[in-house]
Amino acid sequence: MGEPRREVLAGDRMVEYQERLLRKLVTRLFRQSPFYRAKLTAAGIEPGDVKTLEDLARVPFTTKDELRNGYPLGLLAVPEEQVVRIHSSSGTTGKPIIVPYTARDVADWAEMFARCYALAGVTRRDRVQVTPGYGLWTAGIGFQAGAERLGAMVVPMGPGNTEKQLQMMLDLRTTVLTATSSYALLLAEEVERRGLREKIQLRIGIFGSERWSEKMRSRIEEILGIETFDIYGLTEVYGPGIALDCPLHRGLHYWSDYLLFEIIDPVTGEVLPPGREGELVITTLVKEGMPLLRYRTRDITRLIPEPCPCGSPYPMIDRILGRSDDMVKVKGVNIYPGQIDFVLKLVPGLCSEYQIILTREAGRDRMLIKVEGDPGCDFAAAAQACRRHIKTHIGVGVDVEVVPRGTLPRSEKKTKRVFDLRDT
Ligand code: ZN
Repeated sequence: MGEPRREVLAGDRMVEYQERLLRKLVTRLFRQSPFYRAKLTAAGIEPGDVKTLEDLARVPFTTKDELRNGYPLGLLAVPEEQVVRIHSSSGTTGKPIIVPYTARDVADWAEMFARCYALAGVTRRDRVQVTPGYGLWTAGIGFQAGAERLGAMVVPMGPGNTEKQLQMMLDLRTTVLTATSSYALLLAEEVERRGLREKIQLRIGIFGSERWSEKMRSRIEEILGIETFDIYGLTEVYGPGIALDCPLHRGLHYWSDYLLFEIIDPVTGEVLPPGREGELVITTLVKEGMPLLRYRTRDITRLIPEPCPCGSPYPMIDRILGRSDDMVKVKGVNIYPGQIDFVLKLVPGLCSEYQIILTREAGRDRMLIKVEGDPGCDFAAAAQACRRHIKTHIGVGVDVEVVPRGTLPRSEKKTKRVFDLRDT
């Protein structure tokens, strides 16, 4: 239990293995998925045309809109009696995306998730408090299934009810906290406020489902006295647990025997070489219920070209810089919230919490960054330094307002940071 069961393949042997699975996947899709049969045929692709990873570039992308249009089960690629579970993505606009899982999909996901825990150093002796939501979401149940697969003890709390979270954390001596980074910060600040730091037993935090900055990370680590790991995933591709921060924190290892990752230029769709920043595109190699070919995640990152010194044979992506949807265009410059995180890190005295407020005044864009400052920090000087760094690193002139720590809202789920109040 707990250890990856498959033989780990590296280099050319991994590529051979991936290509074998890719050929089987395309054949299977032609036979069993009316959606992909039509899509591939329209693109002039026949079964047998996709043999190598290079051939994949000919395959058209699959988009979120296509998955929405397939609501509810238009992309199902197995007979319905093989489906054992349904999950659904948020659907903030329009229809949600329904994702069907077979028993094998559920088991594969738990296996990948268990590898994440193992990579973070979680063992069977750990007690894992699961605070992400349960239900149609992939979050809570994914964290639970992975921990159970590893053999750890799960405390399945679900979100909210901070009072009870802290009580269970103390009484059950939780050692591993799983949460959105926003909720982890909220819990950490509550632990600090109540002076519980010496009473808690936490040693590891596994946080994800939104991008979080180095500042936020070090604040959570400092207050709770833990090491934190960034976890990545999306409902359309199993859920969280498909990639995890390396113990050296140089990037996120992903499970390349289950998934193919490519990086493309989000505007032209051109495949970018390792090292270049762009949109992550994922092909599921073994997924049965709803396999995906070249799915555009809208997440911005890069493939890290170098092998990792930690010794893991699995390749790495960088931490997520933002979503292509979160990109804002200000005075003709494309800005991702991840770039703002980077700048804030350069200014001593500034905290992790910030908001970007965009307005248009007299026909011109105005970008205001409201950011929290530490007690004792010279707010005016910090604001000026921040303005200067943004001009240098991002190339736009902005206004910066530093507000006292704790002023900006905290969230039990994901924190909204960008407020675009311009008329479109
Ligand atoms: Zn590593």
